[in-house]
Amino acid sequence: MGVLSETLRRYPDARRSSHPLVSVAALGPLAERLVEAQTLDEPYAPYRVLAELGGKVLLLGVGHTRNSTVHAAEYLAGLPYATGQAALPWYALVSTPSGSAVVILRSIAGCSEGFHRLDHYVPERRELIGSCQARLMWGRDVIAAALTLFRSEPAPFLCSDPTCLWCHRLRTRHGP
Ligand SMILES: [Zn+2]
Repeated sequence: MGVLSETLRRYPDARRSSHPLVSVAALGPLAERLVEAQTLDEPYAPYRVLAELGGKVLLLGVGHTRNSTVHAAEYLAGLPYATGQAALPWYALVSTPSGSAVVILRSIAGCSEGFHRLDHYVPERRELIGSCQARLMWGRDVIAAALTLFRSEPAPFLCSDPTCLWCHRLRTRHGP
């Protein structure tokens, strides 16, 4: 999501997945492999596969709260909402060649505002590009750090926003 992904998606050779909510776009020799990894049950698989292949994450002017690779770690950690075991699935109305259809989305990403905790656990290189803070890191380090936190705490990334219904619901389930 955002101007960078939209710009990349418009490249003539770009590949784009068909997920109705969190489609991904990719360029280059691995584009097809990354895009095809995405399924309704594992929507963040392209980030997992990219990390497994030795890919890096580049955060431009943003922090881990916009790092989608952490969502891939949520799936690997077996969190109920990330693995399709959430009690309340989401629905999307999509266009099809024959009209429209309702797609059930059982595996969804949660709130990412608490992902900033990874600042202390993921090695990275920081550089300024103009006025933009660029942060470069290995995808596998992001996933490894997140999985380490998941093993030590049941819900390490719940945010502190009292109005966040997502985190409130999970906090109720996991305790304070
Ligand atoms: Zn939250």
